[in-house]
Amino acid sequence: MNDCLFCKISNGEISGDIVYESDSVLAFNDINPQAPTHVLVIPRKHIATLNDLKSEDRELVGEMHMVAQQIAGEHNLSESGYRTVFNCNDAAGQTVFHIHLHLLGGRNLDWPPG
Ligand code: 5GP
Ligand code: ZN
Repeated sequence: MNDCLFCKISNGEISGDIVYESDSVLAFNDINPQAPTHVLVIPRKHIATLNDLKSEDRELVGEMHMVAQQIAGEHNLSESGYRTVFNCNDAAGQTVFHIHLHLLGGRNLDWPPG
């Protein structure tokens, strides 16, 4: 996916403020943070939306959540609380079509979201 922003961050073509990386998953700070902690956890594999997940991606999506759990702990959010979100397609406000798990925390988060 040559024109995918998050593939470019994953392969180093575009710099990102990276907080975690493994062979399969990358996490970096959101460029426009909506909370004191706002990290995006992405698979290195290009998957456009949650609709495009395949059963073979089960472990990958699990790993993404484990990474979010770890980063939340590093930010001392485990007890106070945090939120993880996937936005899927336009009605949910997805703007980058390479799946990313938002990790938000460090303030009280309203529910339901807007
Ligand atoms: P979505 O709306 O698709 O769920 O979330 C996309 C997120 O990517 C937004 O929170 C936006 O601020 C973030 N974002 C967009 N472009 C960049 C970028 O170039 N670098 C980083 N680090 N985040 C980005
Ligand atoms: Zn991509």
